[in-house]
Amino acid sequence: MPRFRQILDTMAPYKPGKAVAAPDGRSYKLSSNESPYDPLPSVVEAIAEGARHINRYPDPGAIKLTEAIAERHGVPFGHVALGPGSVTVAQELLEAVGEPGSEVVYAWRSFEAYPLLADLAGVTSVRVPLAGEDHDLDTMAEAINDRTRLVFLCNPNNPTGTAIRRRALEAFLDRVPEDVLVVLDEAYHEYVRDDDVPDGLSLYRDRPNLCVTRTFSKAYGLAGLRVGYMIAQEPVAAAVRKTIVPFAVNHLAQVAAIASLQAEDELLERVERVVKERTRVREALIGQGWTVPPTEANFVWLRLGERTLDFAAACAEEGVAVRPFAGEGARVSIGDPEANDAFLAAAKAFSARP
Ligand SMILES: *Cc1c(COP(=O)(O)O)cnc(C)c1O
Repeated sequence: MPRFRQILDTMAPYKPGKAVAAPDGRSYKLSSNESPYDPLPSVVEAIAEGARHINRYPDPGAIKLTEAIAERHGVPFGHVALGPGSVTVAQELLEAVGEPGSEVVYAWRSFEAYPLLADLAGVTSVRVPLAGEDHDLDTMAEAINDRTRLVFLCNPNNPTGTAIRRRALEAFLDRVPEDVLVVLDEAYHEYVRDDDVPDGLSLYRDRPNLCVTRTFSKAYGLAGLRVGYMIAQEPVAAAVRKTIVPFAVNHLAQVAAIASLQAEDELLERVERVVKERTRVREALIGQGWTVPPTEANFVWLRLGERTLDFAAACAEEGVAVRPFAGEGARVSIGDPEANDAFLAAAKAFSARP
C-alpha cells in the first residue's frame, strides 16, 4: 500500500447537502443554500455558445472575467484573483500563507469547509466557540499568537446567519497583527440588508492584510459551475495567483460568470425575492414559537440541540431536505414560496409533537 498522510484518517469529510423525497414524490432541497431559480436564458445561451470552444483550454488568467469583476467593484485588476468556487479560493489562501506548525483561527460553528481545508493544508485549526449565535471577536483576537497565519471571518456566518457589524469588525481588524491574513468570507453578501453590516470591499484599501472572498454560487445561481474570487491588495492577490492550479476555472464557468455580471439587475431582483421570503419564513417560525436568530443570509438557523436529527427526519418525510448538525441545530435554506410553505408546515407539525 502507498503511504498516505495521517490526516486523511482523522479529518472529517465534507458532507454535501442531500436531496430527499416524500412518499408522494415531493422534493424540496433546502440543504445547500442554492438559488431556487433556474439559470437565466441569457446565461444558458452564453454557456451554449461557450460549449463550442471546449476543445481548447480556457484562458488561464481568466482575463475577461477578472476585468469584469474589477470593473463591477471599482477595484484595480491586480486586486482580483479567482478560483473554481470560493471554497477553492480559501484553499488557495491557506496554501499561500500556511506552513507546517502554523495556525488558522475561526469561529465554531462556522462554514464546514474551514476545518477540512486547514487539515489538507497541514495547518492547525484553532476554533473559537460562538458567543450565542455570533462570532466572539474578543476571544478570537486573544487566540491569535506567533503561529497564527490566517483568520477566517464568515460574514454573515454559515450556518447561523448572524452578521458582524461595522464597529465590531473594525475594532477586531485593528487588533490583528499586520502579518496575519484576515479572510472575510462574504459568500452571502448580496443577501445582507442590515446597513450596519459593512461591505468588506469598503475596508480593504487601507488594510493590506484583509482579503474579501465572494462567490457566483449563491446569489448569482452558478453553484454547478464552480467560480469564486477574492479581492485584496496586490501582494495577497499575487500570492493567491501563484497557488492556483493551471486552468482551474473552466471556460464555461468564465463565460457564465461574465454573462451573470451583465444580467446582474435580473439576478439581484431574484435575491430581493428571496430576502422577502426570508422575512416571511422567519416571522412564521417565530409565530409558531421557534427561536430564530436574525439572519442576513439566504437561510435560517434553528438551534434544536438533541432534537436536531429528529427534526431533519420529520422534514424529510415531507420532502424537505434541511442541513442538520447533530446535537446543535438545523440550517434551512430559503427556497421558492412552495418549498418554504412545505418547510413551514413540517416545522409546525414538529413543534406540535408532545
Ligand atoms: C456556499 C459558501 C461558499 C461558496 O462556496 P463555492 O465554492 O464558491 O461554491 C463559501 N463560503 C461559505 C461560508 C459558503 O456558505
